[in-house]
Amino acid sequence: MVHETGFYDLLGVSPTASPDEIKKAYRKLALKYHPDKNPNEGERFKLISQAYEVLSDPNKRDLYDQGGEQAIKEGGMNGGQNPMDIFNMFFGGGGRMQRERRGKNVVHQLGVSLDEMYNGSTRKLALQKNIICEKCEGYGGKKGALEKCSSCKGRGVQVKVQQLGPGMIQQIQSVCSDCQGQGEKFSSKDRCKSCHGRKVERVKKILEVHIDKGMKDGQKITFHGEGDQEPGLEPGDVIIVLDQKDHPNYQRRGDDLVTKMEIKLVEALCGFRKTITTLDNRTLIVNSLPGQVIKPNEIKCIQGEGMPLYKEPFEKGQLFVNFMIEFPEKDWLPNTSCTSWRDCCLLEKT
Ligand SMILES: [Zn+2]
Ligand SMILES: [Zn+2]
Repeated sequence: MVHETGFYDLLGVSPTASPDEIKKAYRKLALKYHPDKNPNEGERFKLISQAYEVLSDPNKRDLYDQGGEQAIKEGGMNGGQNPMDIFNMFFGGGGRMQRERRGKNVVHQLGVSLDEMYNGSTRKLALQKNIICEKCEGYGGKKGALEKCSSCKGRGVQVKVQQLGPGMIQQIQSVCSDCQGQGEKFSSKDRCKSCHGRKVERVKKILEVHIDKGMKDGQKITFHGEGDQEPGLEPGDVIIVLDQKDHPNYQRRGDDLVTKMEIKLVEALCGFRKTITTLDNRTLIVNSLPGQVIKPNEIKCIQGEGMPLYKEPFEKGQLFVNFMIEFPEKDWLPNTSCTSWRDCCLLEKT
């Protein structure tokens, strides 16, 4: 039986992916293809949301694994949630009711190294945002000088009449370009010189993002009210989502760290003394005494050398050292001294 994998392919994960892997894949793709960042990929954004909606729900995922998209449709599970609602729910953007009086939230992803999550760090992010024009306080011009727009006669729309053929005309309505549909505008002498009547100005703002010790991949840092300002609206939030980068030597599993150590066969059998450099640049000594045989893939655990715990940075997880044993190559013994397995056995007996 062939199983459908389209939804998994959309998220770029394997059909055996864990719920966390699915979340992570959605997080990355949704931020990349969000219409704010990629206006031409609306369809893709929708498909990613749909795939996530199904795969993040254990019941729907089961159904999909058994019968594919068809089963989801027949099971009435194809709720077809609004992709924006899924996005807002995931990134904590607040419900629709709340959004009516609030500007929208902006979500940014920030790549962070494991070293930064171990030691803590402060990153500065430059952000472009709209703020209410200080000069006219968001009014757009001289108080009381707003006039009815002459182009649309205050209706906010312009109607164009086009002759299609003999006795046939077409009316085209469009938003008035002179007043941007407001129906009112300032004459050029009354218009605010600072914002040119737009009521807001684009400015650069520096945000300081504090990455605390022990923060995790996908963790959100919210800057309340730092979104775009708009007259009459409470500004939304800027939400920074941490994206943990891969580390060449360490893998993170929750609060624990895993590292690989390569040793030679002779070291596995006769003991060794090696060092590990920690993420805060200390040196740990790992040793094994002669007679303590280390087997391939054996794991040793060092207490208290994992990641610091978030908000309790003096507590740390564990460090697992995974031993990789380098075996000698085939024919490592010269042929003259050992030509076959049987000869070796005989050699040992005498
Ligand atoms: Zn107008
Ligand atoms: Zn102004």
